[in-house]
Amino acid sequence: MTVGDIDAPADPAGEIAGVSAYPDGIFAIDTHYVRPALDASHLVIEAGRAAFIDTGAAPAVPLLRAALAACGLGPEAVDWIYLTHIHLDHAGGAGALLAQLPNARVVVHPRGVAHLVDPTRLIAATQAVYGVERYARLYGEIQAIPPERLVAAADGERFALAGRGFRCLYTPGHALHHQVFQDERSGGVFTGDTFGISYREFDVAGRAFIMPTTTPTQFDPEQLQASIDRVLALQPPAVYLTHYGRVTEVPRLGQELKSAVDTYAAIARRHAGAANPAEAIQRALTAWTFAALDQHGDCTPTATRQRLLEPDMRLNADGLLSWLRRGP
Ligand SMILES: [Zn+2]
Repeated sequence: MTVGDIDAPADPAGEIAGVSAYPDGIFAIDTHYVRPALDASHLVIEAGRAAFIDTGAAPAVPLLRAALAACGLGPEAVDWIYLTHIHLDHAGGAGALLAQLPNARVVVHPRGVAHLVDPTRLIAATQAVYGVERYARLYGEIQAIPPERLVAAADGERFALAGRGFRCLYTPGHALHHQVFQDERSGGVFTGDTFGISYREFDVAGRAFIMPTTTPTQFDPEQLQASIDRVLALQPPAVYLTHYGRVTEVPRLGQELKSAVDTYAAIARRHAGAANPAEAIQRALTAWTFAALDQHGDCTPTATRQRLLEPDMRLNADGLLSWLRRGP
């Protein structure tokens, strides 16, 4: 499914730029992080109450408010911000958004709580990956979250939005503190980064292309594959990826993703001894991904592929290297 090819065009928020309307009161809002259609915050509306799943970075807050307003809802209608994990492209805007939502609470994995109450270490870790200047441009100002407005989720815990259940499941592998949320009404799962990345630019005749995200510093291939299996066992009709939006054909994508994780690990091991292993791994990952895109039937020009995928390939190579250095 492409962003323009929406199932529920009658919904007003679906008619504002950068918002995709899906069935069951679910929307993807483009946070415009790095480039269009890279990073989504999902909004779910049930009986006039609302929940966000991931928020994007702080500069996205006005876009999230605009999407909410287009649905005819004010900030007091939001009950929950469900966070899949605390990487800043998912949670950087949570504090700034929460400050504008008088009734909302933030649900996060217990390992994430301290970092949201005091984001100092989170900021430093992100600056180490992106550099100080790029960090400021991408993330703006990270606002701390008061502890009384945070809920540390237990594995399997159910949260209700106007009676509509969202089941939280721990899914380590991309990060130790990663969790997903299954919507009991639609059966769909909001997977953050656990179910990989699927850019709509690479859809071919409605078929999605998927790849893992192995960002530093807690990537673990076996954990990630077990977490993908955990999502598959839920038999969701669709999954909602932060990068980017709703995809169906979940069993096919899950198998391809698990197989890609094996290939990634093998590529990393093969190039670990290179003079510049990060560069060698990135080059090999890129070549393999381009070949997989060819096989998928994608005809995107090489330069465009390069532009769309270079940041992920670099982060994935860095994350694989940090996994190898931890000694798998
Ligand atoms: Zn992400």
